[in-house]
Amino acid sequence: MLYDQIVLRYGDLTVKGRNRNRFEKRMLEQVKQALSPYTGITYMKSFGRLYVRLNGLPYEPIADRLKDLFGIVSLSPVVSTESDLEQIRAAALAVMRSLPEEPKTFKVSAKRAWKKFPHNSQEMNHLVGGHVLRAMPSLKVNVNKPDVELRVDIQEETTYVFCEVIQAAGGFPYASNGKAMLLLSGGIDSPVAGWMALRKGLELEAVHFHSYPFTSDKAKEKVIELAKRLSYFSGEPIKLHLVPFTEIQTTLMQANSDNLIITLMRRAMLRITEQLAELNGANGIVTGESLGQVASQTLPSMNVIGRATELPLLKPLIMMDKHEIIRVAERIGTFETSILPYEDCCTLFLPKSPSTNPNLRIVEKVEALLPNLEALISAAVEGTEQMLLSHGSQTSAQTAGEDSWF
Ligand code: ATP
Ligand code: MG
Repeated sequence: MLYDQIVLRYGDLTVKGRNRNRFEKRMLEQVKQALSPYTGITYMKSFGRLYVRLNGLPYEPIADRLKDLFGIVSLSPVVSTESDLEQIRAAALAVMRSLPEEPKTFKVSAKRAWKKFPHNSQEMNHLVGGHVLRAMPSLKVNVNKPDVELRVDIQEETTYVFCEVIQAAGGFPYASNGKAMLLLSGGIDSPVAGWMALRKGLELEAVHFHSYPFTSDKAKEKVIELAKRLSYFSGEPIKLHLVPFTEIQTTLMQANSDNLIITLMRRAMLRITEQLAELNGANGIVTGESLGQVASQTLPSMNVIGRATELPLLKPLIMMDKHEIIRVAERIGTFETSILPYEDCCTLFLPKSPSTNPNLRIVEKVEALLPNLEALISAAVEGTEQMLLSHGSQTSAQTAGEDSWF
């Protein structure tokens, strides 16, 4: 096994001071948790990086898992050697020879973090590059656009040699920025919103409203599948709240305000979620809304709906186009599940012309005329079932490659 470690580079250097320590501690916990199926791995922190020592395990599946964790910007499988010229040269040659296809051009980029090392970075580029060229005579140096950039990172104890930099998901480690409730439907958008919230370091609990028997077990299975997928990215089990919504919906239908029905349902959803948030120590609500997508997602609609709760509403997709959302859904592996046919509790009761510009006072009046709305909301909270879901063994996300996620 050539590579003996994987180095993880963290995100934002703007995260400083005590936050940085908390972030690094959380990062290590998260990595350990995600790699718990692999025995024998050890860890080392150094200069704001985390080194995962493989102790004989192949790096590929481990790198694949790590690239989907949040808080890691990039990672590289590395060969570690003593900080000694001949050993560094030997490692460099081994890395070049291990490439699946022999490159035409390369360059060495040495970095001397340990200033007492006898050769500076420039000298090392030549000393290592010359050694590789002598052993692989068909190779040429190209400093501007090499096929392979061979990096040599010289530290006091150890020198790391590598040529691959794998882009990872970025963001903050899971649960390093507070907790929110995610409104998870079976559609395309809300799992993507969940992934984006997780990426920002939010701990999530998912909330799904079902209208059994109008919505089927299939619809529920689908949401369970999506929640499990999200738990793959957080690396921790995710709690799913299944809220019985049938009675509230049938009651709202009786208000005879057909075009306001979606507005009323959404407000009821937010009220219930607010109570669940309170019970579970969450401070915000994440939804998959995107401006203009449907009648309930115009700005006037969102204004009236949002007034039903005092919690911050986090809408990661608000300014994204559908094709961008779909692209992320495909990459994170939720798209295929999301497009399975299902009935959502809201689409079942969809009126012919839902209001795009509801009037808050009228909406409040309609709600006040429903005698038992508060009691129904409390009953729905009480009747909510909880499930704790984990991902089992799931495949990694599609590699983002050089371009950004969107
Ligand atoms: P999605 O693709 O996520 O279903 P959508 O574009 O179909 O979104 P709507 O159906 O209007 O949009 O829903 C807007 C948001 O409301 C969803 O993204 C989701 O956060 C929330 N939501 C809708 N239906 C449910 C449900 N049955 N349970 C929980 N949340 C829901
Ligand atoms: Mg939907």
